[in-house]
Amino acid sequence: MLGEAVQDLRGRTRGELLQPADVGYEEAREAYNAMATGRPAMIFRPANVPDVVAAVRWAQESGLAIGVRGGGHSVAGHSSPDGALLIDLSRWRGATVDPATRTADALAGCRLMDLDAATYAHGLAAPSGTFIDTGIGGLTLSGGISWLVSSEGFACDALIGAQLVTADGDVLEVDETREPELLWGLRGGGGNFGIVTHLRYALTEVPAMFGGRMRFRGGALRDAILRTFEVEAAAPDELVLAIVAWRDEDGSPAISVNVGWRGHPEGGMAAVGALARHPACYEADLKPMNWLQQQTLYEPIPFGLRQYWKGHLIGRLDESLADALISSASEATNESFALVELIHGKAHRIPEAHAAFGGRSAVANVTALAIWEDPADDEAEIAWARRFADRVSPLSVRGGGYLNYAELDQTAARVAAAYPPDSWMRLQQLKRRLDPMNLFRFNPNIPPEADS
Ligand SMILES: Cc1cc2nc3c(=O)[nH]c(=O)nc-3n(C[C@H](O)[C@H](O)[C@H](O)COP(=O)(O)OP(=O)(O)OC[C@H]3O[C@@H](n4cnc5c(N)ncnc54)[C@H](O)[C@@H]3O)c2cc1C
Repeated sequence: MLGEAVQDLRGRTRGELLQPADVGYEEAREAYNAMATGRPAMIFRPANVPDVVAAVRWAQESGLAIGVRGGGHSVAGHSSPDGALLIDLSRWRGATVDPATRTADALAGCRLMDLDAATYAHGLAAPSGTFIDTGIGGLTLSGGISWLVSSEGFACDALIGAQLVTADGDVLEVDETREPELLWGLRGGGGNFGIVTHLRYALTEVPAMFGGRMRFRGGALRDAILRTFEVEAAAPDELVLAIVAWRDEDGSPAISVNVGWRGHPEGGMAAVGALARHPACYEADLKPMNWLQQQTLYEPIPFGLRQYWKGHLIGRLDESLADALISSASEATNESFALVELIHGKAHRIPEAHAAFGGRSAVANVTALAIWEDPADDEAEIAWARRFADRVSPLSVRGGGYLNYAELDQTAARVAAAYPPDSWMRLQQLKRRLDPMNLFRFNPNIPPEADS
């Protein structure tokens, strides 16, 4: 029966269809996170938008749920949907820029590097993320924290339009005029409402950056973390800081404060110079950069490692966070580290009503990233990440984490806690309109509003 159905799908489409026994299936299935072991019933690589429509309608008729893959970087394993049809857009790469309107149109399989290269050619940039190999699709639809977060807001804030294939196979052109509620929902509601084929962004000029890393260790480490919080509290919109905490080779905790200053070195040094002169700082590598150099400050983390991330969007920075960072760094093993992405400025000033994204009031995304290779370390690494999340949970805005950094075993309660209650209700109504059968459920899932 399935064989006939598969023939039927092949007959309706021009793209590539892979079943588990096919050559190329295993490679196409490979997840970013080796802990994500879901095996799709089929992987479909559409050739065009009509292919996406045909595949969605076919899945509806066949009773198969649908998963979507763009850049494939879901650490929670959402793009490895077990037993479902995986629509793989990872070959849909390419972005065009209109410098006159300062907008970019990007295919949904673009990596950040595709969008960055296209916009940089015009001296422009989109707020997106900090690792250039991540996909723009998942990243934008669930937030997007970048070196521009404090001057431009989250990636989803810059999303001004999209094309979306619904669960019924309708193709919707989404913008402020034609589908304002759906545009609001796509700005943070993830892949719940259908398959996004194109994303349109508002761009901004970024002529110069000043960035790099400062590294700290030793007895004054705690003080250095607290000084970093003070710098953050007084920071202008141009400054974005992130703290990374790990265990040094000698077993002691260490941190780096990573810097992205939008502008020239004088302003950047005025903002962070006191940290570079702190007694715990043993290395300060800060320099003028262009936008692409800033975007490559972090080296991609390769596919195939075992990973478990867990954290919170937090409402205040205090001594308990410094203590949690130091304790967890002291206990970290393998490649694991704790991350604090600090958020202020325009990210907070954009009205809540602009986007469904629920982390707007957070002053930081605080997440433990457990990364290791040996399955024998699974239990200890997962326990380490959970312990860090527990330590910082009293600071949590609502008990939820950043959905783009979701844990593999994320609960429904943690998904709901990522949104303010009013937004959650609106998102459930939108889900009911667009996907009442919850065909798109491999995501931080928003269940359709129940019949009243
Ligand atoms: C190494 C690394 C670095 C990262 N750095 C950052 C960072 O700096 N800032 C940040 O904000 N986040 C960052 N992230 C998190 C990142 O935003 C998420 O992993 C995100 O899911 C990546 O998007 P993707 O398209 O690559 O994911 P995929 O795994 O392809 O997709 C994840 C899910 O998103 C949804 N989705 C994706 N594309 C579509 C689409 N076209 N239509 C509908 N739904 C879709 C689906 O539910 C899909 O299952 C990072 C992740 C990693 C692993």
